[in-house]
Amino acid sequence: MTMKNDTLTIAVLPGDGIGREVMPACLELVNAATTMAGAPALAFQTHNAGAQYYAESGDALPASTLDACRKSDAILFGAMGWPDIRFPDGTEIIPQLDLRMELGLFAGVRPIRWFPGLPRVLTDPRAEQIDFVLVREQTEGLFYARGRGEIRNDEEAYDTMQITRSGTQRVTEFAFDIARQRKRRGKPGNVTCVDKANVFQSMAFFRKVFDEVADRHSDLTKDHAYVDALALNMVKKPWTFDVLVTENMFGDILSDLAAGLIGGMGMAPSADIGDKHGLFQPAHGTAPDIAGKGCANPSAMFLSAAMMLDWLAAKFGQPTLADAARLMEGAVEHTLSTKLAIPMEYGGNANCAEMTRSVISSLSAAR
Ligand code: ATP
Ligand code: MG
Repeated sequence: MTMKNDTLTIAVLPGDGIGREVMPACLELVNAATTMAGAPALAFQTHNAGAQYYAESGDALPASTLDACRKSDAILFGAMGWPDIRFPDGTEIIPQLDLRMELGLFAGVRPIRWFPGLPRVLTDPRAEQIDFVLVREQTEGLFYARGRGEIRNDEEAYDTMQITRSGTQRVTEFAFDIARQRKRRGKPGNVTCVDKANVFQSMAFFRKVFDEVADRHSDLTKDHAYVDALALNMVKKPWTFDVLVTENMFGDILSDLAAGLIGGMGMAPSADIGDKHGLFQPAHGTAPDIAGKGCANPSAMFLSAAMMLDWLAAKFGQPTLADAARLMEGAVEHTLSTKLAIPMEYGGNANCAEMTRSVISSLSAAR
């Protein structure tokens, strides 16, 4: 694929809470990094969506925003939702779930990596080797039940888990591709199927389709784990993980646990990838408890934007965008490892603005 003009268009959805604080910081860093790397300019176009916008307009995800996302080359997303602002039926405002469905963003990619300089959550020194990727299926699974669940006669409630062959195949293929791309200390990549095949038909089917796909990737290794045992091992020996692939709900829960392993949400980036579109957002939410204070750690937003640059680099054959991504990651690493700035989230005193300044000033050290 070639670029339309010379400029890539990025739909920017800052959203609510700390999303509105980390997004401007992120755009500043991306501009500095792409300029330094001599990468093509990105045109950022900001659009309304989220709980605050719902309160103002009665619409959480306007058609114009959805349309702009469809037409953009990538979507950069802050965080959305607010406890006091809800739909009339009491449900939360979560436009990102609608975006996943509308844009077919079937793979939730959550890289979990320990950064030198951060306090270790696990006491075992091998925790410094934590470096794995959780791939979460995000268009079916138990989330298929959203909007379809049923309470019968105020006595029984039902939600349906949906696992399809095509849905499982595409997310599993995606996980094997990631395992192949990762250069993992000389070993062939490994993909772990995380399921509950011993109890549920749906999960036994997920495992069966996973195995069929795995057979087509004989240069890589595979294994299986029940989700409960996997949760235990995620705390006991997460440094042994490479790529994990799992159903929607299991992935939702495990990704928060995984972020906890590296000490907090502020270091955990994520990407929602489909056949055509890519949306990049920090794994954290709007953090109402700290919003408005300017103390959010913008690193997860920065690292998510780096994932976006890598994805654009591959999609449009523009290696300088990947160079800019390396600069951004290197600058975050440099900031933390030299203790130039320690985020307040980790007991330091660097607020969002100070973290941003330090990371931008570290770009040249990352060169
Ligand atoms: P959601 O429902 O959107 O996932 P949540 O309430 O589950 O939201 P978060 O908004 O991610 O969770 O916040 C969880 C905790 O982590 C809060 O205490 C919040 O202050 C903290 N936190 C999240 N992101 C950051 C950040 N970037 N910097 C510092 N602290 C953060
Ligand atoms: Mg959460």
